[in-house]
Amino acid sequence: RQAAFRTDLSVLLDQVGAGKESLSFMKRRIRRLTQQWATAANRLDAKLEQRWRDQKKILVHVGFLTEESGDVFSPKVLKGGPLGEMVQWADILTALHVLGHNLKISMSVKELQGFLGVPPGRGSCPLTGPLPFDLIYTDYHGLQQMKQHMGLSLKKHKCHIRVIDTFGTEPAYNHEEYATLHGYRTNWGYWNLNARQYMTMFPHTPDNSFMGFVSEELNETEKRSIQQNKVNNMAVVYGKEASMWKQGKEGFLQILHRYMEVHGTVYYETQRPPEVPAFVKNHGLLPQHELQQLLRKAKLFIGFGFPYEGPAPLEAIANGCIFLQPKFHPPHSSLNHEFFRGKPTSREVFSQHPYAEQYIGRPHVMTVDYNNSLEFDSAIREIMRMEVEPYLPYEYTCEGMLERVHAYIQHQDFCAPEPPFISANLSRQGSAGGSRMMGPLFVPQPNSTALSWASNVTAPTAWPPLSSLRLLVSQEGQSCVQSCQSAGFICEPAHFRFINNKEALHGLEVQCEVVDSEINHILPAFSVVRRECGLQREPLLFSCAGHSPKYRRLCPCRDFRHGQVALCRDCL
Ligand code: UDP
Repeated sequence: RQAAFRTDLSVLLDQVGAGKESLSFMKRRIRRLTQQWATAANRLDAKLEQRWRDQKKILVHVGFLTEESGDVFSPKVLKGGPLGEMVQWADILTALHVLGHNLKISMSVKELQGFLGVPPGRGSCPLTGPLPFDLIYTDYHGLQQMKQHMGLSLKKHKCHIRVIDTFGTEPAYNHEEYATLHGYRTNWGYWNLNARQYMTMFPHTPDNSFMGFVSEELNETEKRSIQQNKVNNMAVVYGKEASMWKQGKEGFLQILHRYMEVHGTVYYETQRPPEVPAFVKNHGLLPQHELQQLLRKAKLFIGFGFPYEGPAPLEAIANGCIFLQPKFHPPHSSLNHEFFRGKPTSREVFSQHPYAEQYIGRPHVMTVDYNNSLEFDSAIREIMRMEVEPYLPYEYTCEGMLERVHAYIQHQDFCAPEPPFISANLSRQGSAGGSRMMGPLFVPQPNSTALSWASNVTAPTAWPPLSSLRLLVSQEGQSCVQSCQSAGFICEPAHFRFINNKEALHGLEVQCEVVDSEINHILPAFSVVRRECGLQREPLLFSCAGHSPKYRRLCPCRDFRHGQVALCRDCL
């Protein structure tokens, strides 16, 4: 069946259910953004020009909100607890509904069992028949519940599963045996999924798929009125829980207060939280639309280093604020910070909100060293002189999210049998002037080599299409995430299978005394000194994130659409 766009959200609102603060929060959000989604649906509909879209049978099982997982989130919705996850689930549900799919929503193990058709009760009772869904969106809690209640059949059906995973899971942590043997074992990873089945909140490592969420988009009239009504000396602090204001914040809060009126939205019950200085005008935790109103007036939205990578800075920037945040030196990661400890990623976080720093940047985002009071002081003064327009990256608009989710649903297929590694035909095209960089796909990056691909490389079913591939060689110690990024591209894990071969090494004129095929997440790669080259034997371990000091990696990069990093130019 063909999927048709929906702009009426009332059926979805009924499906979400009631009786918990988390559900009420999600429903308020869905209602508030109804018009934005409708407009976005109409725009994308026009853009896709009547293209056929399969209607999929989709189950969404929100594991972290089930009683069986302990549901620690719901009771904290009105008390300053994390809301980012609920923002994201509300938006995922809405996107799937608006795209016109056949949607079932489960928020308890009982509902899950009902939808899957497995007998209720404890213990693992395998699902015997076919899976009644094309796709299942869940999270790590839900995955665990499915394992318990679907037993062996989970293995058979797992290619249909998508795991919503805020901070991401790197391939080395996902491969059970490899993780166990090499110290990547955590409480979360080791499911042996294709790493692209994990879907993140921000585009972290491209090993995972970027799911995202949305932020409100302003029309031109709203933008103008915001700019006219900005209060130049008004700052709002990012941090709705009192603990985020603890310790070491007095110094720069004092400096800030020298120039600006400081507002907060810190949750409190009866008394003002002692962590919040008296000069701060605290509004208490605000409903989302009231926070938006506050952000529309404020000039500055200022982060204290926690929470990491939440939605609020995007909302602030979309409402015309400048986001000021601390640089982390050394970077925070699962090796050195309690919050990231045990998370299935080695990603190094160089500031409170790396997406804001890397993908948005100045003038909307300023990242400074808060320990340097001179630097902090001059940043505040500069912000007061600056004028910025509200800005929202396309990938965080409703249309951008619909476009991306549409593309994933129609093109990502992890159930098809793993195709053999394809030895691409790397016949060299005339190399001008002795240059090692060849052909029309020349990639201008010093000390790295680019290849052009003979056009007779065929992989008609590949998505992203092979035309988007650019092969690069990383520096020693550099990951493919960094290597592709520094050349203006993005690493594309789906393309690894085309470059994992001797022809690629040969085409790059790599001197190999031996070429081994091994199981290691930094492969394909080579050591210049030892003249050793290694190819990957385990497709689940193809990793953009991997790096190793003495090895240069072969990196499959691709182009991307402006404002939509998840999709290549020919990906729609
Ligand atoms: N938020 C809110 N009221 C407030 C402060 C924040 O409704 O007073 C919302 C905000 O609009 C954002 C969500 O909380 O969409 C999550 O914000 P944050 O970036 O703090 O991430 P979290 O740590 O909660 O996941």
